[in-house]
Amino acid sequence: MASANKTRLLIFDLDNVLSLLRVSPAKKAAYETNLRTWMQERKQRGDILTVASFNHQAREVLSDMRVVHFFDHVEADCKADSKVFMLGKILGMFPHVDVESVRFYDDDIDHVTAARSLGIQSFCVAPMTGLPMVYKKDDTE
Ligand SMILES: [Mg+2]
Repeated sequence: MASANKTRLLIFDLDNVLSLLRVSPAKKAAYETNLRTWMQERKQRGDILTVASFNHQAREVLSDMRVVHFFDHVEADCKADSKVFMLGKILGMFPHVDVESVRFYDDDIDHVTAARSLGIQSFCVAPMTGLPMVYKKDDTE
């Protein structure tokens, strides 16, 4: 009961997921505006927001995007062996969260497949679009 209201642990890749690198400056800015609104809503709902990225400048990028304050943890390790290693580290930081409440978003299908093998609900994100759920309803149709 009320599983829809359960706290979720959301784990995002940075490049081409939160930060769109292959779109026009206008589209990037519009996306980030929607992203801030959506993240604000997730935080108000009590969700835990994290990043798992090989980009060692992830914090700076998130700061430039004016979203860094939404994140409970930013795992940015360019020397990490694998994305799975980073995911394991993040899961270990929030042991009270069931694996069925974890969501992972990445544009690399290999990372998505690896995360699924851990039992994490994982979504492959289109790099030109980013996270589909951040778009306002008016913009999706
Ligand atoms: Mg990426």
